[in-house]
Amino acid sequence: MTTLFVSDLHLDATRPAATQSFLELLAGECRQADALYILGDLFEAWIGDDDPDPHHREVIRALRALTDAGVPCAFVHGNRDFLVGRRFSTETGVHLLAEGSVIDLYGRPVLLMHGDSLCTDDIAYQRLRHIVRQRWLQRLLLTLPVNTRRKIALWARGRSQQAQSAQAPEIMDVNQDAVADALREAGVRHLVHGHTHRPAVHHFELDGKLAERWVLGDWYDQPQILRSSPSGWALSPL
Ligand code: MN
Repeated sequence: MTTLFVSDLHLDATRPAATQSFLELLAGECRQADALYILGDLFEAWIGDDDPDPHHREVIRALRALTDAGVPCAFVHGNRDFLVGRRFSTETGVHLLAEGSVIDLYGRPVLLMHGDSLCTDDIAYQRLRHIVRQRWLQRLLLTLPVNTRRKIALWARGRSQQAQSAQAPEIMDVNQDAVADALREAGVRHLVHGHTHRPAVHHFELDGKLAERWVLGDWYDQPQILRSSPSGWALSPL
C-alpha cells in the first residue's frame, strides 16, 4: 500500500530526461500504487487543453494508460499549468482537485496544495495570481489562437524570471501564518505541497498540537517523489 506524490516536474520538450523519468514512473512504480497525486507544475507551461504540442500529447497518453490500468490519479493546478481544464481531465482520466482539497491518507486527513497561495510575502506575485485565476480571464485567454497564447506564455515566463532574480529568497518561501491558517481552515495537521522547490519535512506546533508540512522537490536536476504508506512517509529522489 503506497500513495505517490510529485510536483514541479516542469515537463517540457527541451528537457527530455525529466519527461522520460515521468513516463517510466507512470508505466512502472505507479502501476502498483494506490494512487498518484500531481501537485501542480506538471508542465513548464500549459496554454490550453487544445495545444497540439506532441510532447504534451505523449504525457497525456501515458497518464491515460495509467488511469486505464485502474490507478487513480489526481492533479492540483500549479502556477504554470493553471489552464489545465476539463478536456485534459477527460483525455487522461485524471481527476482535477480543487486547491486546498483534503484527502484521506490511510485514515489521516491530509491537505494538498500547490503551495503558491502560501507565499503571501510576495505581494506582487499574489496580485498576479489573483488576476490569472479569474475564470473570465482564463476563458478569454482560451479564445486566442494557440500561437498567440504560446507567445504570451513565453513573455510571462521571461517577466517572472526577471522578478524572481530581483527578489529576496525568503520572500519566495511560504509564510508560516499562511500555513497555519490553511491547516486551521481545513481542520487538519498535515500538509503536502510543492512550488517552492525546497524539499523538506517541517515539524511545528499548531494550537498546541504537532503539525507536519511536507514540501515536494522539483524535477529540474533530479526527479523527486514522496511515498506514503500506512507505516510512514519518505521524501526521496526517484
Ligand atoms: Mn509553482
